[in-house]
Amino acid sequence: MTIVCLDLEGVLIPEIWIGVAERTGIDSLKATTRDIPDYDQLMKQRLRIMDTHKLGISDVKEVIASLEPLEGAISFLENLRKDFQVIILSDTFYEFAEPFMLKLGLPTLFCHNLEINSNGRIIDYHLRLKDHKRKAVESFKSLNFTVCAAGDSYNDTTMLGAADRGILFKAPDNVKNEFPQFPVVNSYEMLRKEIEKTYSHNL
Ligand SMILES: [Mg+2]
Repeated sequence: MTIVCLDLEGVLIPEIWIGVAERTGIDSLKATTRDIPDYDQLMKQRLRIMDTHKLGISDVKEVIASLEPLEGAISFLENLRKDFQVIILSDTFYEFAEPFMLKLGLPTLFCHNLEINSNGRIIDYHLRLKDHKRKAVESFKSLNFTVCAAGDSYNDTTMLGAADRGILFKAPDNVKNEFPQFPVVNSYEMLRKEIEKTYSHNL
């Protein structure tokens, strides 16, 4: 039995923070871990910027609801779920992902939480578990599942390494060059073919 673990942003949906920055016109929200490598520092900065602009969770959710999954993502996921157990492992937050999950047919999602006060302001964030993507894959393997994982960025590489088959999807050059051990695919059609290689090995 094979479980397919998919990253969310960059694989099925666009980068949420970039989308929010573009829709709100707040350029400083475009900073990513490439600009500020310390994730905690980056998140605190994002929350500060949102507070300065008086953006509460409902404003952000409204912006996020106007974004669409990547082209082809909905049917890719729908078909994949007919043949595999699919679990989405993401470093986003449930509060942000919700509008996308409705559009994606409510797949299972493991991610993190925001702390929101009674005025709807986002006051903090809580990682459910550090390096949770890798730990989830290891846990599924301990339950006797074969695991295929796909993602596009640095925060996926430990998950890809732990999986029986790890695949890079539309990864940037620096990630591809640093992790040449993982096959790279650039379309949903190719991703499906790579995933099926895990399946056929384990029939
Ligand atoms: Mg990603």
